[in-house]
Amino acid sequence: MSRLMYLVQRLKDRLLQKQLRYGPKRTPGVALVTGANKGIGLEVVRQLSEEGWMVILCARSRESGSQAATKAGKRVVFVELDVTSQTSIAAAAQEVSGLTGAVDLLVNNAAILLREQDQSVCEVNVDVLRQCWETNCLGPLLTTRALLPLLRNSKAARVINVSTEISRLSRMRQSFPAYCISKTGLNAVTRQLSAACQADGIPVNALCPGWVKTDMGGPGATIPIEQGARAIVRLGTEVSGDITGMFIANGRILPW
Ligand code: NAP
Repeated sequence: MSRLMYLVQRLKDRLLQKQLRYGPKRTPGVALVTGANKGIGLEVVRQLSEEGWMVILCARSRESGSQAATKAGKRVVFVELDVTSQTSIAAAAQEVSGLTGAVDLLVNNAAILLREQDQSVCEVNVDVLRQCWETNCLGPLLTTRALLPLLRNSKAARVINVSTEISRLSRMRQSFPAYCISKTGLNAVTRQLSAACQADGIPVNALCPGWVKTDMGGPGATIPIEQGARAIVRLGTEVSGDITGMFIANGRILPW
């Protein structure tokens, strides 16, 4: 994309974007966060716990997940979950239903970004494409499906898929091809789930936390981890359930 096209796109975004409206905080319930042993996921767990939620902290590593859960706050419970394994997803869903009758907030946060920034989509390794697709796109879909009975048991469940601005088709450029393609897939999953869950009254949205200082964000990132996580927590706890099937960044609804 040329510089001029990029600027035109930004201008179009500005004209089309809508500010999110935040309301009073929901009554705390039960939240589940995937990939929460570190980074943004762990900080989301910490903030929700501070606000009085019971939080199920999921991670693929039993050791770092259980260590993180003991430090993350009150009423934080660790459940092992590798989002690329259907066996692990089914076992986790069963364990969660033994712990609680309902899930009020699901944050599909787990993801990978394999260092491929200098590679073109014409050359990127097929295993990298597959791993990103399975973790970042199929993982959230299969996790949400497995937890649907528990989400349906909630009076006001919400699902947040943690995506990225660079996955928006209108912003797509030649960088991180496997990551971007998998997150664009996640955006499509968001739209499909939003439509499919409308009858159950479950809003499903995608959100970009910004360029956040984590292992994935790297040393150049500009946004503190607390701020990136806060955007997710606010969407899950302060935004009306009428908003569904949207892409959200910086407190605004943006075009896909
Ligand atoms: P991070 O620090 O690298 O954390 C990623 C988390 O996902 C880790 O806990 C990791 O577990 C977990 N994970 C990876 N594969 C998994 C699997 N198969 N099953 C379960 N968990 C798995 O990244 P982050 O920056 O916190 O990113 C969190 C979310 O924000 C991601 O969805 C990311 O795409 C999104 N995001 C981040 C940025 C940014 O600038 N940081 C920008 C836009 C969007 P292990 O420790 O076991 O690897």
